Parts: sequence; structure tokens; C-alpha cells
Amino acid sequence: MDTSTFPFDNTFAQLPERFYARLAPTPVSSPRLVRLNDALARQLSLDPAQLTCASGIEVFAGNVVPEHADPLAMAYAGFQFGSWVPQLGDGRAILLGELIDCDGQRRDVQLKGAGPTPFSRMGDGRAGLGPVLREYIVSEAMAALGIPTTRSLAAVLTGEQVIRENNLPGAVLTRVASSHIRVGPFQYFAARRDTEALALLADHVIQRHYPDLTSVDEPYLALLGAVIERQAALVAQWQLIGFIHGVMNTDNMSIAGETIDYGPCAFMDTYHPETVYSSIDHRGRYAYQNQPPIAHWNLAGLAQALLPLLSENEDEAVEKATAAINTFPECFKASYTAGLGRKLGLSTVDVGDEVLGSDLLERMARNKADFTLTFRYLSALSQTQNDADKPVRALFEDPDGFDQWAVLWRRRLAHDGVADSERQDQMRKANPLYIPRNHLVEAAIRAAEDSDDLAPFNHLVTVLASPYQQQPGADAYAEPPAPEQVVHQTFCGT
Ligand code: AMP
Ligand code: MG
Repeated sequence: MDTSTFPFDNTFAQLPERFYARLAPTPVSSPRLVRLNDALARQLSLDPAQLTCASGIEVFAGNVVPEHADPLAMAYAGFQFGSWVPQLGDGRAILLGELIDCDGQRRDVQLKGAGPTPFSRMGDGRAGLGPVLREYIVSEAMAALGIPTTRSLAAVLTGEQVIRENNLPGAVLTRVASSHIRVGPFQYFAARRDTEALALLADHVIQRHYPDLTSVDEPYLALLGAVIERQAALVAQWQLIGFIHGVMNTDNMSIAGETIDYGPCAFMDTYHPETVYSSIDHRGRYAYQNQPPIAHWNLAGLAQALLPLLSENEDEAVEKATAAINTFPECFKASYTAGLGRKLGLSTVDVGDEVLGSDLLERMARNKADFTLTFRYLSALSQTQNDADKPVRALFEDPDGFDQWAVLWRRRLAHDGVADSERQDQMRKANPLYIPRNHLVEAAIRAAEDSDDLAPFNHLVTVLASPYQQQPGADAYAEPPAPEQVVHQTFCGT
């Protein structure tokens, strides 16, 4: 591999030493490539052929640190399941550096599972193949669905075992993000009353993610507002696609508004607002319906951390922060309602739309209807009731429940006045056919871990790259699980 393969241009590493620990990844015994994301490599102006040769794989495994990299583990704190943890940090991830992609966007390249760091606490710094594949599958599916997310550039096996409940094959994921800066580092410095570091971090984040704010009157207050807007829009998109993050701790909330840290995440099959999959979420704190209020709560934590930057007068700072935080519900609702309108094929906005949408969701919950397929099959319906209604009706335990709602929906469509074919086209772009269904993700992981068979994983990744487009021979990927295939719990595997 050419030494100039990674033309890193690192800015985070120029921040003071108390922002991170500098260290190289810990080498592994015998790396083997699982998958390279060719399209993402090209987006990063990297040559896939160089990356898949032996020396490229050595980089993804952490055995070779490429020239111009400044490997480091970031320091941060966070609230985990509501409890304050003053010292977290990258316990098993090492940032290699930043690249400028084809569109001029700065992107972090990080190895996850690259060995212990000063922030590892009791952990081994490693990742198992299963969680690495899960993150690869789901993050790339989210990107294809059009939802802001970290990406997966490569997965490699280490040739070593990781010790969890069972011994598992070890793996490293190369993760790409617009940055890996979370709410957590702000809380870390705020807790240490390090206002200088807070300002440096905020300036760095503004320059990198919110450059329009550099010249406004109160950039730090504007930063808070902008993060609130992006997070509200992000969580609205999660809700609209049936995605449950599973571990919405403040250290897992990106300051740039990307979905980050895929652990026990899952997509809902049958719709129910109280759905929880994560094995560690005993009280359902991060259940589907709690995601918007939890995001709001996390952002209040960010606001609190930023207080020293908002005003020298504490009361005034609190007043400004509170006003900003109070905009969250409105921001969320605006994104969510607009998105739900698109899912329902509405081209205009009407006062009754919200009720129309929530009425459908309530009926879906009562009738155990599949979330994804209800909206997708709805996209095929015409203004007049006919045979095309059959597939969506069949998703409801009591199809009458759907029929009653469809009368109201059709009345609303008539008012909208858009031709069926045009509306159906629009709806198919808002309602995916393929999502990373838990039983498919599980099957891909089982085949890889138990039989060293990567075919199901590779096939799944390929199908999920075009989630809105019906693909020949891919019917099984659209189907909900059979009763015996239903996954009830997901695990973070850390
Ligand atoms: P998570 O909720 O998975 O994002 O992880 C929470 C914290 O635990 C972060 O600080 C991680 O870096 C750390 N962590 C998770 N797994 C490991 C591991 N296997 N070894 C060391 N640290 C870990
Ligand atoms: Mg995390």
C-alpha cells in the first residue's frame, strides 16, 4: 500500500492533550478482511484495490498505523441509563484521523475494537464479530434509508477470540463519521469546571459542523439551538422508520446529529409504542415511544454543560438555555408530522392530519400490524377501494379496523387531489420495503459466527443498499419473521 493512501488532515488531535489519550491500536495475530465498503471508500477518495491488499487490511486491523494518522482515544463522560458516569471515553475505539471526502466534507476514520485504552475500565478493548456485523448492516441500511448516521468502511476478523458469555471471533470495525464528538465530552469538561476546554470544544464543533454560526451574535447559544434541531429531526426519522436505538445515553448522542453507537438496536416488526428489544433495558427507558423525550432530556444535559458559555450571569445563562431546550418538542413535532404526512402520501398539510396518522398507528398497535409493510403496502392503494387493499388489510388482525381508517384516508386524499400514480411513487420513496429485520440480522450473524459463512451477511447488505426499490428474488427480505423467527431481545455484546 502506498503511504499516501490515507491523506489525513487532523484537527481534533490539535486540541489540548486533556481532550484525549494518544495511543496506537494494539496489533492482532492474523487479520482477515470480512468486507470493504467500496462505495464509501471511493466517497472518501480512497482506492478500494489498495485497501483490500494485505497492507490495507493491516491498517483496518490496527497492526499498521498509516502515515499522517494521529491515533487517539477521546475522553468523555455521560449519563448512562440516567446515572452520571464522570469518566467514560473511547474504551475500545481509536481515531486514526480525519479525511476530506469527495464532497469536501471532513470525516473521522476510527477503528472500533482496536484494543484497550486508558478509558477501558474493566473492558478488554475488543469487539466480537456479531456486534461488528450488526453495526455494519444497520448503519449502512440507515445511510441507504437516508437517515444521518455513522458509516462502516470495513470489517476485519482479528484471528483472536474475545471472551464474552461464550468465546467469539474478534473483529474490528472501521467506522466513519462526520465526527465522533458526542454530548459526553461537553459534560466531561463541564463537570471539571474546565470552561476553557468547553469553549475550545464548542469552537471546534461550530467550525466543523455548524460553520454558519461562526459569525452570529451568540454562537454558543446558536450551537445549542442547532444541535437541538438536528437531534429532533434525527429522532423524528427514527420514529418514522421504526428504529429503536436501544442505548440513548448522552455518550451515544452525536453532536453532529448522526445516529451513532449501534449496540442492541433493532427495527420494530409489529408496531407497538412500548417496544423494547435491548436485554439491558429492564425498565424500558429507551423504548420506542420514549426516544423523543429521552433526546430532549439528553439535550437538557448538553444545555446544562454549556451554561458557563452562555452568560457570565448564571440566571441569565439558565434562562437562555431553558428557552432553547423548550423548543425541542416543537422541532420534533414539525419533523415528525411532515414525515408522517409523506408516509401517508399527503402533498398538503391539513389540521386533521395528525389525528389521521395517530389513528392509523393506534389501529396498527391494536391489530399487531407490521410497521414497515403497513406503510409500504399502503403505498400501492388507489383512491377507490379495490383488490389492491388485500395485502395491507391482511396485516391487521381485524381488517375492519383498517377499512374504517381507509375511508377517512381516502376522503383526505380526494381533498389533496394528486393522481394515484404520482402519489404512489412519492409514497414508495418514503416507505421502505426492506429494513434490517432482526431475524435476518440474527441469521447473518449466526452463519458468520458459527459456520464462517459470510454469504447471508453479504447478501443482506446488498439488498439493504436499495431499501425503497423492489428487487427481484428478494421477497424473503421483505417479509416479517415467522412466529418461530421472532427476535425478542437484542444484546450489545460489549
Ligand atoms: P457503549 O454504550 O457501547 O457505547 O459503551 C459505553 C462505554 O463502555 C464506552 O466508554 C465504551 O468505550 C466502553 N466499552 C464498551 N465495550 C468495551 C470493551 N469491550 N472494552 C473497553 N471498553 C468498552
Ligand atoms: Mg458509546
